[in-house]
Amino acid sequence: MSGQRTTASDPYFPASGDPRYRVHRYEIALDYRPGPNRLAGTARLSAIAGRAQLTDFALDLADFKVGRVQVNGRAPHYSHRGGKLRIRPAKPLPAGAAFTVEVHWSGNPKPVRSPWGGLGWEELTDGALVASQPVGAPSWYPCNDRPADKASYLLSVNTPSAYAVVAGGRLLTRTTKSSTTTWVYEQTAPTSSYLVGLSIGMYQTVLLGDPGLGGVPQSAHVPAHLLPNFSRDFARQPAMMRLFEELFGPYPLGEYAVVVADEELDVPVEAQGLSLFGTNHVDGVRGSERLIAHELAHQWFGNSVTIADWRHIWLNEGFAKYAEWLWSERSGGRTAHELALAAHRLLASQPQDLVLADPGRKLMFDDRLYQRGGLAVHAIRCALGDGAFFRMLRDWAGVHRHGVVTTASFAAHVARYAAEPLDTLLTSWLHQPSLPPLPAPPRDVVPGGTGGMP
Ligand SMILES: [Zn+2]
Repeated sequence: MSGQRTTASDPYFPASGDPRYRVHRYEIALDYRPGPNRLAGTARLSAIAGRAQLTDFALDLADFKVGRVQVNGRAPHYSHRGGKLRIRPAKPLPAGAAFTVEVHWSGNPKPVRSPWGGLGWEELTDGALVASQPVGAPSWYPCNDRPADKASYLLSVNTPSAYAVVAGGRLLTRTTKSSTTTWVYEQTAPTSSYLVGLSIGMYQTVLLGDPGLGGVPQSAHVPAHLLPNFSRDFARQPAMMRLFEELFGPYPLGEYAVVVADEELDVPVEAQGLSLFGTNHVDGVRGSERLIAHELAHQWFGNSVTIADWRHIWLNEGFAKYAEWLWSERSGGRTAHELALAAHRLLASQPQDLVLADPGRKLMFDDRLYQRGGLAVHAIRCALGDGAFFRMLRDWAGVHRHGVVTTASFAAHVARYAAEPLDTLLTSWLHQPSLPPLPAPPRDVVPGGTGGMP
């Protein structure tokens, strides 16, 4: 575990989260009716006050009707507006004290508006799904909405029995009473609020790979009419899982699920132990295979190794992009170096006003950040050579497993694997906007790939 918990507000989303306390467990019970899109929830948060006494604190929660609120079993004063539930406990909470918060809420959930479209809870034609990155989680539950505040989750969802409920983590129980079914999932791994995923729909469940052989349990939840194409498109996911475990170290969670929603999605999205795809990512000819690799890689880079705040987003996206290239290289496609050359040509023709280590809120999901992030990782590989590079990568995922990181902690980590200082290289790739030249591959980056299928 790494302990780099920042105590300041997020520079890109200063209104989100409250750094004065942290939550270590959420126990959430939801009742959802898809037809009227009606959600009622209760949440019990187990939290710990920070270094100072708390006379008040805030949770993020969108425009719902808030019912009962309790802190340590007593009614506090509270107000709820502008997406903030501000709570003043009857008695101040001493520094370092453990406390519990209980919140009841209800209403019609809808996405949080953002420059990237709606975030969070989205009602589908028949069902719902949640994709919260970066600040959509309060669209469905009260949370301390900052990536560094990672907690375990117990999530119970009651909904009409015709629907399947898929969440990240282990399905503990599924209980049907009259016409509704309650699904209870637990995610024991520390999880950021934006990574709590959920999907409710008409899905068939299929298993991927062979968990009987000791592999990671992998399930898929797919509309019946997409199953033939799905089974072709996702056939190589178990091989990806084996490759990434070889390159990045053990899969950080207990299981991995993918959902294909019965609608088009702009982009697939990662959640903890779960990835969500749309009908447009299933074509029967593996047209989105690189995205399958990308979302899987986020389970290591982003979900387990999590950024302290959103300035460091390239540590998620650059590594997931590079995992696409590694998958291509190791599965008989173009090598990472060939893909890096193509990305470099693309970026050379575009404006160079993006600083990878602090792109600004406006450019944090710009495609250039993904491409340049992948290129920065490749430049480090070229500088270190394959032996040191893959040790560095595996140790990065291992040392910071379920932890919180920054660009500075990454630079310090990389330095331990370099024979010569890499400061100039890292500064040019991470902290300056102009595009550095692509380094020549070192001798041990084999141009034709480093091996066959895992
Ligand atoms: Zn991504």
